[in-house]
Amino acid sequence: FESEFKRLSSLDLIGQMAAGISHEIRNPMATVRGFLQLLMLDNDLEKQEHYFEIMIEELDRANSIITEFLSMGNTKTSDMEIRDLNTIIFDMTPLMEVDAVTQNKMIEVQTEDVPKLLLNHNEIRQLVMNIYRNGLEAMEEGETLLIRTYKENDSVVLAVQDQGKGISSEVMEKLGTPFFTTKDNGTGLGLGVCYAIAARHSAKIEIETGENGTTFFVKFNLGQILDESGHISE
Ligand code: ADP
Ligand code: MG
Repeated sequence: FESEFKRLSSLDLIGQMAAGISHEIRNPMATVRGFLQLLMLDNDLEKQEHYFEIMIEELDRANSIITEFLSMGNTKTSDMEIRDLNTIIFDMTPLMEVDAVTQNKMIEVQTEDVPKLLLNHNEIRQLVMNIYRNGLEAMEEGETLLIRTYKENDSVVLAVQDQGKGISSEVMEKLGTPFFTTKDNGTGLGLGVCYAIAARHSAKIEIETGENGTTFFVKFNLGQILDESGHISE
């Protein structure tokens, strides 16, 4: 079942996020300020240690929000190059494996030869990273995340399939809304960034979800495909 997100252009999305971001940064600032005031009054060492932990977590969260937000605005179309999607996936595989192994989970990569695409490779890395991290986070220990590339009709498809518990329809409706998260330490920005990146690549994101897991499909239009000499072949 397909997400509603497509109707948001990346510009709408960045605007919405800009509006939300001051709020999201002020929250951790207010928390840190509150704890600093408590620290001035309270010299119980155990409590102080707890306050420091919370303040560090809040600052880290503010930092990730800014990092993810900036990653949306800093690329130009001139950074697009003719690239092999599989090479990008292979380059990321060791990194993904480290993430998986530290959580006692597995990553499997299955690629087919696919035509090269006009891509911004930093953005595609970011998109893959946000999707596979969500997949890993959705799974229990011992489960496997499957990443595939293949050609289908007039698209090149990247599919990321997890063995998690699926996404409820309530959550599906809110997917990609900036700052929407069901995680304690989530930013709720990962999918928003993915949708913006997909839009810039004229790619579609589709989601299939059920009790056996969720698959995110990123479908790159073959209209984007250039031949070896760099000409668009339609
Ligand atoms: P975050 O990961 O920081 O929560 P995202 O924008 O990446 O933010 O994801 C938003 C929400 O979408 C998640 O909190 C989660 O509820 C849901 N979600 C995304 N991917 C998956 C998945 N593969 N399985 C289950 N839920 C998912
Ligand atoms: Mg995420």
